[in-house]
Amino acid sequence: MPMNSNDKNYSNLVDKYVTGKILVTRSSMPAYEEYCEEIKDIWDTRWLTNMGPKHKKLQEELTKYLGVEKIDLLTNGHMALELTMQALGLTGEVITTPFTFASTTHAIVRNGLTPVFCDIDPENFTIDTAKIEALITDKTSAIVPVHVYGNICNIEEIQRLADKYGLKVIYDAAHTFGETYKGKGVGSFGDVSCFSFHATKVFNTIEGGAVCFKDQSFGDKMYDLKNFGIHGPEIVESVGANAKMNEFSAAMGICNLRHVDAEIEKRRKVTERYHERLDGVEGVRLNKVSPDVKPNYAYLPAIFDEEKFGCGRDEVFRVLSEHNIGARKYFYPLTNSFDCFAGRFDPNDTPVALKISRSVLTLPLYADLMTEQVDRICDLIISCKK
Ligand SMILES: *Cc1c(COP(=O)(O)O)cnc(C)c1O
Repeated sequence: MPMNSNDKNYSNLVDKYVTGKILVTRSSMPAYEEYCEEIKDIWDTRWLTNMGPKHKKLQEELTKYLGVEKIDLLTNGHMALELTMQALGLTGEVITTPFTFASTTHAIVRNGLTPVFCDIDPENFTIDTAKIEALITDKTSAIVPVHVYGNICNIEEIQRLADKYGLKVIYDAAHTFGETYKGKGVGSFGDVSCFSFHATKVFNTIEGGAVCFKDQSFGDKMYDLKNFGIHGPEIVESVGANAKMNEFSAAMGICNLRHVDAEIEKRRKVTERYHERLDGVEGVRLNKVSPDVKPNYAYLPAIFDEEKFGCGRDEVFRVLSEHNIGARKYFYPLTNSFDCFAGRFDPNDTPVALKISRSVLTLPLYADLMTEQVDRICDLIISCKK
């Protein structure tokens, strides 16, 4: 961006980026030439999918980058969750939270399991560990907590309860790519941690996902589930699905991984600008990062306290939309109030999650969001205050 405002390109750029439409996110992509270079050998080998060289390379690189023991790559984050529950042979009830993306709850229900919804912590939006124990019954087989917006769950307490009651722990780590907790890769906790590499996440393979684990017997089951249970040209040992990451997605991941640290650094600067502008505005609360976490600045959730701010979340959302700014009510509605579950669950059982889902707005955040754009968004938000 030219710094000289007399430059005739400058006003064009301001029109395009500052007063124009702003979406809640913008996918990270490598330079076009870089991607073309990376996929060149796919034309030589004609190896498009089925655990080819790109898949293998990305798998190795991610093992190192994420600081995990073992990883397997899949078509998307949802299949990572759904097949993990199947591979672990979960039964009966699973304790989870409703303050998440549809995927977490759907993965449980699609496995024929019953989600038992625990409320969330009002400060970091992850499962309230003080409320888990009361929900454990003799049917409970696992806890499926979600690291929300990059905030890490109370890992020690969850593991303590899981050990005490013999439960599996599967983390939905879709929001926490590249984060560490007390210096350890966040994917190394629980029995399995599931990542999403969807286009809208901090790191993407267009569509994609991964499971991180330590136990190779789980890895073997997962591999069967992602590849039809095929063990050889004439040997099919189990009834698997198909959830393999293809070579073009893996190539996108190889390219994006080269730039992800720089992207996270840019996200940090954008996040800081939001804090400069909105911290101290009465009735607005931005997310706080714990000192135990190396953050990835995946999302910018703002909680609006209608009484103190004088105006509620829905009104702020409306004003931003009118000005072509795409904030997102994320997560809203709670998964336990989805139409597809009508009559099955009661969102009033999780009152904190219910309240947060009605007062949160996730603001635009991506690496190339300009300071001028953040300022425009913040000016509009502040203008809503009464
Ligand atoms: C994105 C996301 C998923 C699903 O991942 P996909 O790759 O889109 O299938 C699951 N859980 C959470 C919390 C997510 O944000």
